[in-house]
Amino acid sequence: MEIDSFIPYGRQNIEQDDIDAVIEVLRSAWITQGPWGEEFEKQVATYCGVSYAVAFNSGTSALHAAIYAAGIGPGDEVITSPVTFLATANAAVYTGARPVFVDMDINSYCIDPQLLEAAITPRSRAIVPVDYAGYPVDISVIKEIARRHNLLIIEDAAHALGARRQGRAVGQDADMSILSFHPVKHITTGEGGIVLTDNPELQERLRQFRSHGIVRDASRMMENHGPWYYEMQSLGYNFRLSDIQSALGISQLKKLETFVEERQRIACYYDQAFAGIKQLHTPPRPAAGDRHAYHLYPLLLSPGIDRQEVFSYLRERKIGVQVHYIPVHLQPYYRKNYGYGPGDFPVAEDFYRREISLPIFPGLKREEQDYVIHHVCSSVVGHRKTEGG
Ligand SMILES: *Cc1c(COP(=O)(O)O)cnc(C)c1O
Repeated sequence: MEIDSFIPYGRQNIEQDDIDAVIEVLRSAWITQGPWGEEFEKQVATYCGVSYAVAFNSGTSALHAAIYAAGIGPGDEVITSPVTFLATANAAVYTGARPVFVDMDINSYCIDPQLLEAAITPRSRAIVPVDYAGYPVDISVIKEIARRHNLLIIEDAAHALGARRQGRAVGQDADMSILSFHPVKHITTGEGGIVLTDNPELQERLRQFRSHGIVRDASRMMENHGPWYYEMQSLGYNFRLSDIQSALGISQLKKLETFVEERQRIACYYDQAFAGIKQLHTPPRPAAGDRHAYHLYPLLLSPGIDRQEVFSYLRERKIGVQVHYIPVHLQPYYRKNYGYGPGDFPVAEDFYRREISLPIFPGLKREEQDYVIHHVCSSVVGHRKTEGG
């Protein structure tokens, strides 16, 4: 079996209609802060079934804004999983809060609700669960704990656009949920992100934070000098998404359902292919009635298999496997500034040693997937010497 080019673990799917949508904006009077931005927010809010969506120039900015909007700052603690992209924990650090990690649950690959309560202190303000790989985390248990301790839930749903809980789109169950539109995510705006919420005050704070802390609504200003007048009432940033990007997002959103269905088909095919192989552990299936969005396909190797060898074997064959993630608490910055270190979160650390993410994206061809499956199997069942590549 041969393939023509490198197969990444994820990539965008851009078609002519996406390109046309962007060109339309480029020819218009607005390339930022125009009608496409508002329309994109409206459509994402509708899709996810929430009242408000506030778009940002990245998922990271969206997370930062959500933590800020929650009123979290120095002296506060934010609880999350170490098995996530750095941005989840960094967002807490940006505001001066302390990131507190809770180990993962090997049955969901998400934060372990059993361990959550032990990590709560009088300084805890929010729980930031991550829907790892697109698996909709069991939010009802987390909600129950959050209510008892008066904590906010800010769901990092960067992997989970299109996932559902009992038919309800992910994004409805937390105080705020964030999405990312990075090219490897379900839909892309190049770079971009969004915060979803039903709370009008949070929405207001998010919008202000996105644009320099500026207020233009006369009813909320201290003074009013005339039609040009605005007030800066807090310190914000320029975290805006352009209309060029929003137009791409609107065009991509039309295809989200088919994208997610394709990801599910790919995951199902991997699941079947690896079902009988004892060295390989396929990712957890969602609870009955839930829908997994499969941003990633994380395959776990049995203990004793050399992950680096498997990784290199596949990379040599132009298969762009990745590892998600190096546990955040093991990063030098987190060790140095927060005193974390090896052994703190054993489930996450063991997972890290054994995980490998396989290619999954809309547009991955069946023969490419067969090629991946063939070589993954060869790499673990000792056919290495007989396989030419
Ligand atoms: C992609 C991602 C983000 C946001 O990343 P951006 O690249 O800034 O959009 C946040 N959290 C997780 C878990 C992610 O995978």
